[in-house]
Amino acid sequence: MDWTLNDVDRAVYRDEIEPWLPDRILDFHVHVNLPEHTGPIAPERIAANWAMEVGTAQSWEELRATYASLFPTREVACVAFGTVYRETLTDANNAYVLAGAADPANRAVPLMCTRPEWPADKVAESLRPIGPITHLGPIGPSPSGFAGIKPYPDVAPEGDESIYAFVPHAHLRALNEAEGILMLHLPRAGRIGDPANVQEVREIRLRYPRIKIVIAHVGRAYCLPTAERGLPGLADDDGVFFDISANLNADVFRYALDTIGPDRLLFGSDLPITLMRGMREHVGEKYINYTSAPYSWNTNRKSPDEEAGYTFFLYEEIRALIAAIERSGLGKAAMARIMHDNGAGLLGR
Ligand SMILES: [Zn+2]
Repeated sequence: MDWTLNDVDRAVYRDEIEPWLPDRILDFHVHVNLPEHTGPIAPERIAANWAMEVGTAQSWEELRATYASLFPTREVACVAFGTVYRETLTDANNAYVLAGAADPANRAVPLMCTRPEWPADKVAESLRPIGPITHLGPIGPSPSGFAGIKPYPDVAPEGDESIYAFVPHAHLRALNEAEGILMLHLPRAGRIGDPANVQEVREIRLRYPRIKIVIAHVGRAYCLPTAERGLPGLADDDGVFFDISANLNADVFRYALDTIGPDRLLFGSDLPITLMRGMREHVGEKYINYTSAPYSWNTNRKSPDEEAGYTFFLYEEIRALIAAIERSGLGKAAMARIMHDNGAGLLGR
């Protein structure tokens, strides 16, 4: 996707975002993959998931160029993993992720995408303790394995909605042993608002306490009622972290700051999908994406005047975070924790 900045983007970055950014940014949720890592996707699958049409491939080179373009005055490190759909050629994509993470220029910590049918040995042998990592400054030894896993509900057997359907206990045991990261995309239509999800996360915490658990997209609470139902159930556990990726809702972030606090929220970009230009409206439990891009699903458009003011979804995410921090009465110190320090701490740096 096009990561060239226009005048609107440049003004948003310069006037609204940059003044809030710490010197270092750690993006805890980003996808890296080449087109050949995804097999053919059936049209009905694309029709059922707007993101599939948007989220095209992103090479390491493209990711570096995107960071340099979107955050021209900052250095960005990342926690990176492949793409997660059942059509993905997961082994090939994982190999690409791992090879890229060995290049210090990418400043990346790799996570392995997994398939539930894989033997636990395969997971165990691919993990390594999080040693010195190539963020900034002196470079440690090249990574020889993954720092954790990124399982995904799309690869679960049809009809089984449990977290364990796509990340079985055997994998969790291996991950616990390695003290690895679990980047968890919650299943079920109710997202974090479904008590079964909260109960399973609490159970994973009890049974596998050495796993570093990060719940993606604030538990997929893209809308406030979902957050209100789900976040309190995990608020008392200091060991549960949340990334804010692909979430554009200042009310949700404000609520998360109030219930979870600023020390367990992690910036994540979900690039490349958030290079889409547009905005999101939140109505009850539904969100509506607006964009100027020519996707087949893009039939509900705003006026040309409004579309001319669009910027990247990623900038909108950061705008929402800044708004929430301001409304919470917190300041740049909280922003620095979310944009970098909390994630760096979780990686043991
Ligand atoms: Zn993602």
